[in-house]
Amino acid sequence: MKLPVVATPTLAIAGRAERCPIRRIYCVGRNYVDHIREMKEGDERDPPFFFQKPSDAIVANGSTIPYPPDTSDFQYEVELVVLLGEGGVNIPQDKALDHVLGYAIGLDLTRRDQQKDMRAKMLPWERGKAFDASAPCSALMLADHIGHPTKGAITLSVNGVEQQRGDLSQMIWNVPEIISNLSNSYKLMPGDMIMTGTPAGVGPVVIGDKLQGHIAGVGTLNVTIGPGEG
Ligand code: MN
Repeated sequence: MKLPVVATPTLAIAGRAERCPIRRIYCVGRNYVDHIREMKEGDERDPPFFFQKPSDAIVANGSTIPYPPDTSDFQYEVELVVLLGEGGVNIPQDKALDHVLGYAIGLDLTRRDQQKDMRAKMLPWERGKAFDASAPCSALMLADHIGHPTKGAITLSVNGVEQQRGDLSQMIWNVPEIISNLSNSYKLMPGDMIMTGTPAGVGPVVIGDKLQGHIAGVGTLNVTIGPGEG
């Protein structure tokens, strides 16, 4: 039998032919107060926390995403994505942005019924969060070109009707705080991606739905929900 050939996941870079390799995807949970309230996730003063998705869960802008198995409550969460160009441990907040290569807009797609079931049983979130094609992401916008966005609308619409709206300034942990906190728990490396949490308005999708996310100054992401793969 032949050995498997495994490709490193990559992300398009706006205006460049090269693609950016992706090492890990870290995600922030509970980073907007209004989303904590809608999820009824206990004490809203509890700090955000981290979980991961597999890096091969990335799908490109414009893709059709198969409705996943093991759920009847497949939901969107629109999020600002940070891509690290430099790694480190114990990164101080005032140096954190020096590690950022660029930004994108992504969706933390979620099997909400599985997430809630796992949460109730105090089991890991993997089945709810870390599944195939659960991380659609737009092309990377380099920080050299767009700077470091700290405010601006973040929205998601389904079939042209706006469902989520927040502002990047509402994040409980801002980007330097996220990077610094994360680097206290993990050795960060170039190619690490961070999904920074979602504002309120999350909800379910069905086959045929067209999702459009937008972050002012960062980009637009379009995906369609297709039939399951069997
Ligand atoms: Mn999320």
